[in-house]
Amino acid sequence: MDFALIVAPYLLYVTVSGAILYSGAMLLSMLLPLAPRSKMMLYASALLLPMFTYSYYLRHMTAGCDMVGTPGAIRICTLSAYYSEFLAPFTVVLLIGYVAWRVWQVATKRAKLGREITDRFHSGRVYALLPELGYTEELTVAVLDSHYPMAFVRGVFRPELVLTRGLLELLGDEELKAVLAHELAHIAGGDNVYNLVHVLRDLAFFSPFAHLAWASYAAEREMAADYASLGRCTGTDLAGAILKVARRGQDLSCFAWQHSHFYRPSSISRRIRAILSDHRQVALVPLWLLLALLSSTILGLC
Ligand SMILES: [Zn+2]
Repeated sequence: MDFALIVAPYLLYVTVSGAILYSGAMLLSMLLPLAPRSKMMLYASALLLPMFTYSYYLRHMTAGCDMVGTPGAIRICTLSAYYSEFLAPFTVVLLIGYVAWRVWQVATKRAKLGREITDRFHSGRVYALLPELGYTEELTVAVLDSHYPMAFVRGVFRPELVLTRGLLELLGDEELKAVLAHELAHIAGGDNVYNLVHVLRDLAFFSPFAHLAWASYAAEREMAADYASLGRCTGTDLAGAILKVARRGQDLSCFAWQHSHFYRPSSISRRIRAILSDHRQVALVPLWLLLALLSSTILGLC
């Protein structure tokens, strides 16, 4: 098969199926009382499934699609075949440019985050608090020399807990324990592995729906970790820690190299309301059924 015909439909397929899937995931999240973890999976599938649609296209193209030769049929494969002389080189240049930009971004990220503090003064406090949370497994803790209050888990196969000096100086022991409980919930849920869907967002960087799906995935992932951490800490400590971190983050935002959407007042208040309310959302429908429903919406796309 022609190289141009393989590459040309990529932008259209991923954008159109991404739009359908993101709308579907958003609709299901709004209409059904789903747990944050289920919503997180729905948005992850809105990132994953457009790639399947494209590979399905490749399969039916190699099998010989009779639509391609039909002029006037408003189908993605027809349009792509018609404009392939423009679409194929445009897609290749766009992808190469984006990959170069991302490689540069990742290469400079560590330097921007701040150097690692090697003395045990700060990390010792974290290691002392972990057993109080009932966590006895071996865990590497890294502390970064940054004013910015941050906590996250890095590493896919060997998760490592990363905190900043700014966070440790800001929070008292109980609030710090709540933040640690939240991060441990990310590790227990395997979020460091699920976060690999950001590769799919990068592959679909041209589609606004991929960015919306990623933002919704990340928001639900935080809500899910908040819910899961409440067995190890109180809601008031966790809510207090989030407020303090958000406030300091907003104060420092003019100096920060990266603005987090978690510091947006709307997402903070949504998290805090969910943490402090006794109402827990329950999934009434099994997740596989929702995923199957979403997948079936794009099967007719050609
Ligand atoms: Zn988190």
